[in-house]
Amino acid sequence: MDGWMGTVLRVNLDKLKYIKVPLDKLIAKDYIGGRGLNSKVLFDEVKPRINPLSPDNVICMAPGVFTATPLGITGRLEVSTLSPYSGILGDGNVGGNFAGFFKKAGYDQIIITGKAEKPIYIWIDNDKIEILDASEIWGKSTWETTDYLTEKYGNNTSVLCIGQAGENLVRFASSIVDKYSSAARGSGAVLGSKNLKAIVVRGNGNANIAFEDEFKKLAKEDREYFMTDPLQSDIIPKYGTHIGMLTWMPGYRYFEKYLREEEIPGNLKPDSWKKFEIGRATCYSCPERCKNVYKIPSGSRKGEVGKGLEYEGIHCLGTNCGIMDPVSILEMENLADMFGMDVIGLGNSIAYAKKLYSLGIIDKGITDNLDLSWENAESQKKLIYNITFRKGFGNIVAEGLYSMGEILGKESKKYCYHNKGLSRGVFPAGLFSLAHSTSTRGADHLRGRSWAFGENDAEIIKMLQKKGLFPHSIEKDPIKAITISERATTIADVIGRCKGSVNNWASSLPLVWKYPIFDGVAKLLTAATGIEYSGDDVEIIATRVYTLERCFNIRQGIKMKDDMLIQYVEDRETEKGRQEFEKHRDLIIDYYKLHGYDQDTGVPTGNTLIKLKLDFVRDKMNEERDYPDWDGPKGL
Ligand code: SF4
Repeated sequence: MDGWMGTVLRVNLDKLKYIKVPLDKLIAKDYIGGRGLNSKVLFDEVKPRINPLSPDNVICMAPGVFTATPLGITGRLEVSTLSPYSGILGDGNVGGNFAGFFKKAGYDQIIITGKAEKPIYIWIDNDKIEILDASEIWGKSTWETTDYLTEKYGNNTSVLCIGQAGENLVRFASSIVDKYSSAARGSGAVLGSKNLKAIVVRGNGNANIAFEDEFKKLAKEDREYFMTDPLQSDIIPKYGTHIGMLTWMPGYRYFEKYLREEEIPGNLKPDSWKKFEIGRATCYSCPERCKNVYKIPSGSRKGEVGKGLEYEGIHCLGTNCGIMDPVSILEMENLADMFGMDVIGLGNSIAYAKKLYSLGIIDKGITDNLDLSWENAESQKKLIYNITFRKGFGNIVAEGLYSMGEILGKESKKYCYHNKGLSRGVFPAGLFSLAHSTSTRGADHLRGRSWAFGENDAEIIKMLQKKGLFPHSIEKDPIKAITISERATTIADVIGRCKGSVNNWASSLPLVWKYPIFDGVAKLLTAATGIEYSGDDVEIIATRVYTLERCFNIRQGIKMKDDMLIQYVEDRETEKGRQEFEKHRDLIIDYYKLHGYDQDTGVPTGNTLIKLKLDFVRDKMNEERDYPDWDGPKGL
């Protein structure tokens, strides 16, 4: 099957059995790979409103269609499930080597159902599969687990595993690939709930390409661009996402404000992190080397090495929690990787707890005597331990931002700044808030927002504007900008392309600089699969996947009210606040119109679903009809 490996691996943990099934050719054509294949399985197989941590949940993992081909930056794995953190669709797009090795082992997707009676792990050695006892590694960190399995199976393997946070069902626990890359939105807790500690993979095969010469020619053009473009060849390999400290305005003390360049302390600026750096690292098939390798210089973890501290780690574990000390941030990044947690979910949940503490809504009586003052890094580290092992107040924070608000009560809940259970800050009506509200996995910066903003690819955006393919003013037309961007990032996730360490179009969409917007991807797809794709076909596939995800969430109870503006407590009752709210509401209605959703409910219309070949979605939703309101993951 040119373009695909042609095999889906299904593992039933109730029975400790697996089967290999042929990849359905029509599904492959219409959903391509990665996130597309996963979202289709989730819609088909996850019943609405099940408990995400029950055996009924399904977790799927899929590389992209271009993973393990000569096209670079395509070693991403999509890990998708009903998220126990948000209670809606949750996917994490993760680097490391797993996706490349898994594809070379001969598979397009793994679908895991049920729950093993005792802890197990899965060993995939090309076409040989074993489900094995994990009692020796249960209770160990992701680093210890990876070392153990790598020693057992050799260096030419890749390990995806959970740490103690996943075992203890911390709702923002991640699955961690090769020690340092994290698949967020609770996939670690879902694996923990299934008693699945790890998957080890070795793959020695090759991807099948229909027109190899043509594909290689296109891949070479793409590579040459990366070798000559200053952002890709100079800034990213030198700084990775640290460069964002100067331009992305990290939140400070639970989004009390956003730090401008001149407000960022010198020791958190990109060059300052260089003194801890002992090397650079990369993911499968990526020339960018955007990840730093660092050594902790002092303190209780002195000498410990870590990898891939990103802007989000500095922002979410650092500034937004009021921590400005770089060594403490490095230590906490390592704790998150070792215990297996997503730094955004972890950091934002802690920042929320600290905000409540600073307001006196919670005190030491509730926090088990932990001083949650903003600048106290020691107590924050202690809290990370307590979250991981669900001790005392840590047990409440481990429930995640939304559920924590529910548990702590009405006054606390007022300060829970979230969209569908996830937090990315508070912004006025406009591009960012629209992106957070409409993202199909809850508030998020990688479903379109950063691409719409386009700051890292000014030249490409200008070129798209000249051709009439992108709005001239994103302030005036944020809906069109978000729509194009959400489609571009969806395609990146289905082809296995990294959305780029600094969130840029050239990384996200191969050859966009030469064959905009989706024509370059179409050429590559045609060469890889032998099936004729046009740029329009590719855009329709992106729209199909996004709409299907929207419908998955509607079945989870998401309604128009869940797409509304997130506002600071102080602004909600003011006249300006009311105007902002209305402005956002109008934008949402226009967004629905453009997407073919009902303007009163936000549900895609029957016509829209038929046009996108989603008749089965319409039929299922017609049968089921009313869904109770979403109320976080615990309400399920
Ligand atoms: S750009 Fe960075 S995160 Fe993305 S694949 Fe390359 S090394 Fe990994």
